[in-house]
Amino acid sequence: MMQTTEANLSKLNNIKHSAMTEQQVIIAGGGHVGLSFALLLAHHGIASTLLEKNSYPTVSPNDDSNRSHYLDSRNTALSRRTVQIYQEIGLWDELQSHACRIDAVQISEQGSFGRAQLNKADEKVESFGQVMENAWLGRELLLAAQQEPLITLIDNADVIAVDQQSDSVTLSFSYYGEEEHEQQLQGSVLVACDGRDSTVRQLLGIDTTTYDYKQTAIVGVVETDKPHKHNAIERFSPAGPLAVLPLTDPEGDGNDDYQAGYRRSVVWVCPTGEESKYLEDDEHFLATLQQAFGERAGMFKTAGRRGAYPLTRVLADKQVDGRCVIMGNAAHTLHPVAGQGFNLCMRDAHVLAQMMSAQVLKGADIGDPTLLKRYEKARHTDQKRVIRFCDAVVHGFTHPNPAVKLARNVALVAFDKLPNIKPLIANYAMGLKS
Ligand SMILES: Cc1cc2nc3c(=O)[nH]c(=O)nc-3n(C[C@H](O)[C@H](O)[C@H](O)COP(=O)(O)OP(=O)(O)OC[C@H]3O[C@@H](n4cnc5c(N)ncnc54)[C@H](O)[C@@H]3O)c2cc1C
Repeated sequence: MMQTTEANLSKLNNIKHSAMTEQQVIIAGGGHVGLSFALLLAHHGIASTLLEKNSYPTVSPNDDSNRSHYLDSRNTALSRRTVQIYQEIGLWDELQSHACRIDAVQISEQGSFGRAQLNKADEKVESFGQVMENAWLGRELLLAAQQEPLITLIDNADVIAVDQQSDSVTLSFSYYGEEEHEQQLQGSVLVACDGRDSTVRQLLGIDTTTYDYKQTAIVGVVETDKPHKHNAIERFSPAGPLAVLPLTDPEGDGNDDYQAGYRRSVVWVCPTGEESKYLEDDEHFLATLQQAFGERAGMFKTAGRRGAYPLTRVLADKQVDGRCVIMGNAAHTLHPVAGQGFNLCMRDAHVLAQMMSAQVLKGADIGDPTLLKRYEKARHTDQKRVIRFCDAVVHGFTHPNPAVKLARNVALVAFDKLPNIKPLIANYAMGLKS
């Protein structure tokens, strides 16, 4: 358990009495989205209390023992827009040393002629984004939140009830401290960032539209004998889409040294039921990967621990109910094929924090249901576009029909040759256009 929890619980009792005057935001769920949203609010001078079901590890600025193992499994491609948001709140300097730039993106299909390439020089951008290990991202976000006086973190806290009044919202939760007991917290607004199976969403009776892709993402870290040179490679194989992304080396900053950088993140989507063959035997995994990928990344030498994530699209039927907002995976869980899920959540969080900040400056209620409805409307177009884009990539590139296969290869060639399409798509993928 995080060391500060008991202290935070007594701080929480004080907050309970002053909540309505302090315009307190309650955040349920302290994953990457919940922590980032709390930090965005703090940047605007808005206090929040964040409840997390699990125990946070103990982290301190001078001790990085609670970071990922060298060959840990999960990584996130952060778009340029997400990087800009972290820059805006002063977090990027800390994150950057663990992030690896993407300078070029190559897209191809196994056994087909179509291929396309995006280069940062052609698109006149600094990079297409950055890849970061989730364990590092989580550690840095947690450290920043712990050090922020406007954020009260309570871990081991499981949401059990939500009750809305005309001018506030009351959240009940079980606290698994030395003794389990129930606590209540009152605030102006509740933001649920409690993941795909969101308890808050269920408590509010919000339905979801769900689609099972019948696919599982195998995620891991590999080493190649050739340096990655900051290339991201997306390859569509008959087994499923396969992304190989550059990662930092633990000893050096992968952004500065072109010769260092042999570690790469692999996300390989396979039909559900076939995942065991990718998880169990490293040698078999490396050989299968090599066969699907060819030698464009060099030879795959070492594989780290791999994780398996069954893929389902879950969309909340609405994202605002009275004084409650559904955010992050709780609002929209997407297929990871285009690396868009977290980046979309960050744009949502950024807009809501800005709208709440403007409301505070006017001396108005930050949980005003009309404001929250305006937020939901403001985010509709970007969310719809990303959801459609992800699905188009999944279905377009996994369809076995030869006519569809030919069409997608022609599309890849056209994408590579036509002058105006690349910058447009690149901007969408970087999260710079909505
Ligand atoms: C294989 C894979 C690869 C991906 N790669 C990328 C990528 O490259 N780029 C990208 O943009 N996105 C990517 N994504 C998507 C990204 O991982 C998600 O969008 C992101 O993790 C969502 O974070 P979240 O905080 O909303 O949810 P979660 O990470 O699920 O966090 C929810 C939190 O709420 C807590 N919680 C749950 N219930 C309760 C409760 N009752 N009370 C209190 N707390 C509770 C949980 O313990 C958890 O900490 C990928 C996804 C997958 C599966």
